[in-house]
Amino acid sequence: MKALFFDGLMPHLIETYRVPEPEENEALIRVLMAGVCATDIEIAKGYKGFRGVPGHEFVGLVERVRSPYQGLTGKRVVGEINVGCGACEFCAKGMEKHCLSRTALGISERDGAFAEFLTLPLKNLWEVPEAVSDEEAVFTEPLAAAFQVLEQVHVKPSDRVAILGDGKLGLLIAFVMARQGLNVVLAGKHASKLALAASRGIKTKYSGELQNRPGYEVVVEATGSPEGLNVAVDIVKPRGAIILKSTFASRKNGEPSECAGEVDRRAPIDLSRLVVDEITVVGSRCGPFPPALEALAAKRVDVKSLISAVYPFGDVASAFERSQEKETLKVLLDFRP
Ligand SMILES: [Zn+2]
Ligand SMILES: [Zn+2]
Repeated sequence: MKALFFDGLMPHLIETYRVPEPEENEALIRVLMAGVCATDIEIAKGYKGFRGVPGHEFVGLVERVRSPYQGLTGKRVVGEINVGCGACEFCAKGMEKHCLSRTALGISERDGAFAEFLTLPLKNLWEVPEAVSDEEAVFTEPLAAAFQVLEQVHVKPSDRVAILGDGKLGLLIAFVMARQGLNVVLAGKHASKLALAASRGIKTKYSGELQNRPGYEVVVEATGSPEGLNVAVDIVKPRGAIILKSTFASRKNGEPSECAGEVDRRAPIDLSRLVVDEITVVGSRCGPFPPALEALAAKRVDVKSLISAVYPFGDVASAFERSQEKETLKVLLDFRP
């Protein structure tokens, strides 16, 4: 099969990569479309030490299932990316995404979606409702990460919410929270991205316009930059909450990730403010797929407005290039004939 293979130095498009063999209770999935994420760009630069096929945002067709349960055969599915060992205390509690020996699709120890086929356990798969197009379904994984914020923090309608970062994730979080009727302002650095949010009725600000004092009960940090956390600490109100969506650790070389053009200043964080003002800090990663799929089926979140370009899989190199341009949002790869 055709696959993008990362050998630790650079990605190669290989025509004869071995089709993966599903293990017990896994499915072989034919990829229809995949999304390029900031994480994939980082992987292609070697930051995560990953060797293999990157890609974790996808929609596909179940080609074959290795299980007595055949219900998903032939169905169109999306898949949760973390695969736990199934035997540890975290897996026993349903916290597979925190399993210490987990694999993650296209990120850690498991070949991903930038290939014609991939495998995932059946329990990771969710059937895509008819009303959701392939293009929309690719957004299930990042949209689920946006929904995770509301799973973790109870936001009241009277709360003022600031979302820092106008990248894909910041925009999705803003779409989700605004749709819930929450009082949201999105702060970013890109005119076109802020304009997109504004056109959906979301209040926006340039990062520089944020006043350097407490004004928000809830601050969501999605800039991809450590500087964003400093801003969050400055603007959150006493007893407020900061939700961290950025993984700075992956940016050791100071390269921009989610928010292109951001400078990694590694400014020290004023932890005393967190203590004195009793601020809650919540780390937040992957989220639940069902609410994301429901929102897509009901057209409650307009993810199509985030698509900057669609490339055939054979032109994955151009897709990666386009994905790194400043004003680009989501770039999709099309595997369909
Ligand atoms: Zn991603
Ligand atoms: Zn485990």
